[in-house]
Amino acid sequence: MTISVAIIGSGPAGCYTADALLKSDVDVQIDVIDRLPTPFGLIRAGVAPDHQTTKKIQKKFGTTLADPSVRYFGNVDVGRDISLAELRDMYDAVVLAVGAPYDHKLGISGEDKTGVYGSASFVGWYNAHPDLRDLNPALDTKAVAVIGVGNVAIDVARVLVKDEAEMADSDLPAYAAKAIQNSPITDVYIIGRRGPIEAKFTNVELREMGKLEHCVSLVDADQLPDDVGDVDLSDRDKRLKERNLNTLKEFANSKPNDKPKRVHFVFYASPVEILGGDKVEGLKLERTKIEEGRAVGTGEFFEIDCGLVIPAIGYRATPVEGAPFDERRCVVPNDDGRVDDRLYAVGWIKRGPTGVIATNRPDGEIAAKHILEDVQSGEKPGRSALKKLLAKKSIQVVDIAGWQKIEKIENESAKPQAPRLKFETVDDMLAAVNGS
Ligand code: NAP
Repeated sequence: MTISVAIIGSGPAGCYTADALLKSDVDVQIDVIDRLPTPFGLIRAGVAPDHQTTKKIQKKFGTTLADPSVRYFGNVDVGRDISLAELRDMYDAVVLAVGAPYDHKLGISGEDKTGVYGSASFVGWYNAHPDLRDLNPALDTKAVAVIGVGNVAIDVARVLVKDEAEMADSDLPAYAAKAIQNSPITDVYIIGRRGPIEAKFTNVELREMGKLEHCVSLVDADQLPDDVGDVDLSDRDKRLKERNLNTLKEFANSKPNDKPKRVHFVFYASPVEILGGDKVEGLKLERTKIEEGRAVGTGEFFEIDCGLVIPAIGYRATPVEGAPFDERRCVVPNDDGRVDDRLYAVGWIKRGPTGVIATNRPDGEIAAKHILEDVQSGEKPGRSALKKLLAKKSIQVVDIAGWQKIEKIENESAKPQAPRLKFETVDDMLAAVNGS
């Protein structure tokens, strides 16, 4: 009998899992459930709006979701509309692909002031995520401190300093474009608690910061070592570090007044306090040195005047009711993707918030392999039971045809160079599906 699999989450990890199951020659019925009407998780709401090439994978995943063996159940919230326990009763296997969509706290004084927004919230805001489009960040400041030296920090800085023409071929929503273009921001500080060699950004993203129309990227040459040194890394990673160092050396030669805006890379600085009254007025930092790979405070402090602080220090998952959770690592504990009897995890909820979209592909392949090893033949009703329960609860499910309607309207409403004009609320998405 057909094996029924429910995948919770339609981001890259969920879609790669569906893809891997489809590639097997086993008869599988795959249901992909998402709490939003729109699929694709962080591809839609996390990848920067001006990185449309990266977002193109949506097309491939759209084909996966439209496969005859797959059904998309959008607008179904596991936890609110249906429990994990109910799904496990209904399906032969359940896969958790829920990601890590929340912010970590810095844990320093002043974090509750107006003007502090974690990158998960801020990125969701400029990507029109329905939960975050009303964030209304206080952009009435000349200077911004972005904490962390990963790719998300670079995304945030870049989106804040690009002008309207540079964002014309993006899907930045109009409210965010207006807020950013009307803001007086001229200086963005990207702050690393460790050094340039330990920084997490990749070189394509770093180099992009040297090609901005109205913004120069700067770094103090004294913070850059002559070479990468004797690091315990693979040749590939060492080459990446060398490329980053060379790019930063180019930035060190830039002149601050060459262009009206500046991104300052600041290393060896750990945030200790966010300053100001109700609203952010500055950031206090402690200079650090590296000891055995860790940032250690030197007792020397300095301040950066800024009205906005965006910690981009990594994402955080939250527990899924009915599944175990490792509070320290913020993941579902698992053995190579196996969580419990016929329960699996893929993506960031499995291994933490690292890697690019394609990093999720092996997760999906491994989960599919385990499922097909563990479940010899289908015994549970799967889709028919889910449909019955959702109908009984009067949940409006958005299927693939519903998503395609949303997508068509978004594409057709876009300005000439832009790929789409995103719906910003769940109500508007549902109205579009209903043709109202
Ligand atoms: P990340 O790469 O893990 O970077 C997080 C940064 O925050 C690190 O520099 C880290 O420093 C710093 N940090 C953490 N805790 C801190 C603290 N308490 N105080 C000060 N700094 C702190 O995370 P991310 O930038 O959120 O990116 C997540 C994943 O998505 C990454 O794998 C990234 O490559 C990927 N991504 C890729 C792209 C792209 O390919 N274009 C775009 C966006 C995201 P330490 O190293 O010292 O811990």
